[in-house]
Amino acid sequence: MMTGGLTKEEESAGSSLFSGLKDENATDIPIKWDEVADVVIIGSGFAGLAAAIEAKRAGSSVIVIEKRKVRGGNSMISGGVVAAAGSPLQKRKGVKDSPELLLHDMLKAGLYLNYPDLVRIVAEKSNETVQWTINYLGVKYDDTLTQWGGHSVPRSYTTYNKSGAAIIHRQLAKLKNLGVEVKTKRLLTKFIRYNDDRVKGIEIRDGYMFPNENSGTVRHIKARKAVVLTTGGFGNDVLFRTTQDPRLNEDTDSTNQPGATAEALIEAMNIGAMPVHLSLIQLGPWACPDEKGFGIGPWFAQTVAFQYGVLINPKTGKRFMNEMSDRKIRTDTIIETGHICIGIADAISAKIRSDFMPRLLKRGIVKKFETLEDLANSYGIPFGALKETIDEYNSYILDREDKEFGKYIPKDAEKLTHAPFYAIRVWPKVHHTMGGVQINTKAQVIGLDHRPIKGLYAAGEVVGGVHGACRLGSCAIVDCLIFGRIAGKHAAIEPKIP
Ligand SMILES: Cc1cc2nc3c(=O)[nH]c(=O)nc-3n(C[C@H](O)[C@H](O)[C@H](O)COP(=O)(O)OP(=O)(O)OC[C@H]3O[C@@H](n4cnc5c(N)ncnc54)[C@H](O)[C@@H]3O)c2cc1C
Repeated sequence: MMTGGLTKEEESAGSSLFSGLKDENATDIPIKWDEVADVVIIGSGFAGLAAAIEAKRAGSSVIVIEKRKVRGGNSMISGGVVAAAGSPLQKRKGVKDSPELLLHDMLKAGLYLNYPDLVRIVAEKSNETVQWTINYLGVKYDDTLTQWGGHSVPRSYTTYNKSGAAIIHRQLAKLKNLGVEVKTKRLLTKFIRYNDDRVKGIEIRDGYMFPNENSGTVRHIKARKAVVLTTGGFGNDVLFRTTQDPRLNEDTDSTNQPGATAEALIEAMNIGAMPVHLSLIQLGPWACPDEKGFGIGPWFAQTVAFQYGVLINPKTGKRFMNEMSDRKIRTDTIIETGHICIGIADAISAKIRSDFMPRLLKRGIVKKFETLEDLANSYGIPFGALKETIDEYNSYILDREDKEFGKYIPKDAEKLTHAPFYAIRVWPKVHHTMGGVQINTKAQVIGLDHRPIKGLYAAGEVVGGVHGACRLGSCAIVDCLIFGRIAGKHAAIEPKIP
């Protein structure tokens, strides 16, 4: 019998018509729940673990699954640099800042494609969230205040070991105390929904051996309250990312861990989650082609050469951009040159990275030269033009004003005259995917009908719209922690389904 153009079966199946959803009561797809929890979280990075902490603290039982053998995703290998606007560290160092200024910087870099209500939450909660990591999680930061491209002022904390692992380990320790286990080698394969479209649980492959998609045993986990999707970005999913941006094929390296792939995002879209900004994929302009992945080169390229030195087009011997502009501007400008560019610094500026310099030199990522002329000859840079560029740049340092590109000259910057000189080859790598599923300010996933999908929350890099066209350095960690916490809190107050 047809009702409103649908058969009775089609009508009762609801939106499963276009999503291939499963009904627990349907006789052809029997589902036995192998495990049950109030809140089921997929992914063990900053966002997932933050959600787990809050859901558990709010009194819910929690299961966290992770597809890889190791926990932590990109969060674990991240640089641990975290933005906080209006922080005690800024006050101590005499830097004036405000959430409004951070909001302005994020929107400007994002080319105003950011969802204003989401990005405002990040700006307003950045400081309180960093303080939460210190006071509640016990994360240790060093005493430096760093400034990353596109930020108007120095506002970033850095973990004591320059790694996101410092935060992840504290999150895992907190969860252990709370009695929540993160179960690895468990791949999300499907969301399971009620006839009323509520997400009721998930199908997984337990014992999954990444990347063999046929490995592991199919099991089902029921979520009495909600499922939280925190599966990160897709920077290492060459097929999916080239579908979104055909330029980013396998010839382009990525800084991401191998599991940064899109299958969970695709499953969310399969049940009607609204995709946002999927083709907005960020490349890291400070990456070095002489090492795989993120490596250690960015620590020199960004915090020494770009901030205190210069980036040179080797064909001309000239600077060609504000080396501290946002990542999109820098990446686009480097790619426009059509070849690898050279970041240059001197002995004084290199001292800032005395922690990394021995390794950088040993691995040949950074090279040392006794004279600028040797450096120029080594990279085929016209020496006369390079000398002119450096002389000109030194005059900007004296005047504390970059008259050519308007780069912010740090107070402690000195003229680039002290031998030895150091250089790094620079070419962008895929780093961050700004696109993902749409969420609202409660972190509920929004469906194609512009309404929340019941029982489904998301946070972190799997979400689109927070950063618009370009994520600023140090703004992902706060984004993941803030929306992870919001997702966990809201998931925990969902009514329980039978
Ligand atoms: C090298 C590097 C350095 C960075 N440094 C910084 C920095 O200093 N500051 C900053 O703000 N940002 C930084 N970022 C960005 C930031 O680290 C990431 O945006 C953030 O870690 C994403 O966290 P997440 O929780 O969303 O995802 P992730 O940390 O990637 O975690 C997602 C997890 O979900 C798992 N997963 C995926 N699919 C499935 C599935 N189907 N089933 C089960 N599990 C699944 C993944 O294996 C992964 O472990 C950096 C990124 C990289 C790659």
